[in-house]
Amino acid sequence: LSEPRIKAPRGTYDVLPEQAPARALLESRARAILEGAGYERIETPAFEATELFARGVGESTDIVQKEMYTFLDGSGRSLTLRPEGTAPICRAYIEHGMHKLAGPVKLWYLSSFFRYERAQSGRYREFWQVGAEALGSDDPAVDAESILLLASLLAELGVEGVRLRLSSLGDAESRGEYRERLQAHLHAHADELSPEVRERIDANPLRAFDSLHEGTLAVMAEAPRLLDQLSAEDAEHFAAVRELLDAAGVRYQVDPTLVRGLDYYTRTVFEFTSDALGAQSGVGGGGRYDGLVELLGGPPTPAMGWAAGIERMLIAAGEELQQAAPARVDLFVAIQDSDSRTLAFELLRDARSAGLAAQMELAGRSLKRQLAHADRLGARYVAIVDGREAALKDMESGDQENMDAGAVVHALLRGLREIA
Ligand code: ATP
Ligand code: MG
Repeated sequence: LSEPRIKAPRGTYDVLPEQAPARALLESRARAILEGAGYERIETPAFEATELFARGVGESTDIVQKEMYTFLDGSGRSLTLRPEGTAPICRAYIEHGMHKLAGPVKLWYLSSFFRYERAQSGRYREFWQVGAEALGSDDPAVDAESILLLASLLAELGVEGVRLRLSSLGDAESRGEYRERLQAHLHAHADELSPEVRERIDANPLRAFDSLHEGTLAVMAEAPRLLDQLSAEDAEHFAAVRELLDAAGVRYQVDPTLVRGLDYYTRTVFEFTSDALGAQSGVGGGGRYDGLVELLGGPPTPAMGWAAGIERMLIAAGEELQQAAPARVDLFVAIQDSDSRTLAFELLRDARSAGLAAQMELAGRSLKRQLAHADRLGARYVAIVDGREAALKDMESGDQENMDAGAVVHALLRGLREIA
């Protein structure tokens, strides 16, 4: 009796070699855009103290209430696989005294995150995000730049049917006042609301805007709007962000019902969706979180950031990304017989030292099969090593030239230069 086969856990997936080129291209585009704007790469641990997310994401959020992978380690500490990247980055910012650096400190990451959710297309239990955070400035230009960078990334990836929704939540104070007015409105209409929303009137009334329940939608259509009640300062900040986005030609829709899933947002919030996605239409989003660093024990530090889902960007991306080619092969070194192996191996090493992408026969194939294999790999040239001699074959033209095996690399560099 054979053992049952072990499969990848539900909601996870393997990145197979055929999917690697598209992901690599996505990463290199993200790097080029973000590093070009002065964002520096950061990576934080895959798990953190549970307390970090409880405090930093917020007790009332879906993430903390039902989506975290939390466990005790060998010494009884409660740890959690990171469900998001902003709280860990704030933790690192505080821990390494980055507030002493010239602000804003601009950081980006590409990492995997973990949430226990219902697995479906575009929704996984381990998923990947690229994200960007700018800490240390409340300048509206930080908000506009941050949003523009994600807009540029989505455009570069050819993500189709992109829409941007934008709003402002005001500061903690006006948000607090608004919260009470919204709660009063919800309590007044409690019997028309979905049970889920009703249960969370006190814990997280803003989430009522996310509900698709019919009765709740009707109640929310009449609800007071935070955007109409911003303080003069917050309204001015929002107007400045909009003016900059307008100047940059970024198109958006102001949506006063936009509520982000995390508790810590203040002022600007935004979300990109794509019509190319089904129910899971969110591609990426973020906002300003001026109180979070302080909440986590750091100095008062205004900050702004976003995260975008890799899987959803890949689903919604254009042709170019979908058809990203695997790594090129400049040279395949074939061997006439096993006596030629040592020289072939030296040629392989020399070709690589010269910066060529080179492979060599590694499976004892017949010469005919070696050539077929080189063709399958898409090798630009094949060198058939026979003793000290080599036949260099141009796989595109079919031309073949005999030379000393030691002259192959030189000839190839010349040939490739002529092509380029
Ligand atoms: P959703 O409303 O789809 O649950 P969210 O508001 O929870 O998204 P964020 O926490 O803002 O998402 O994360 C930013 C992006 O990360 C999302 O727009 C999405 O592209 C991606 N993302 C979030 N959760 C998942 C998941 N479980 N699987 C795949 N991608 C995800
Ligand atoms: Mg979610």
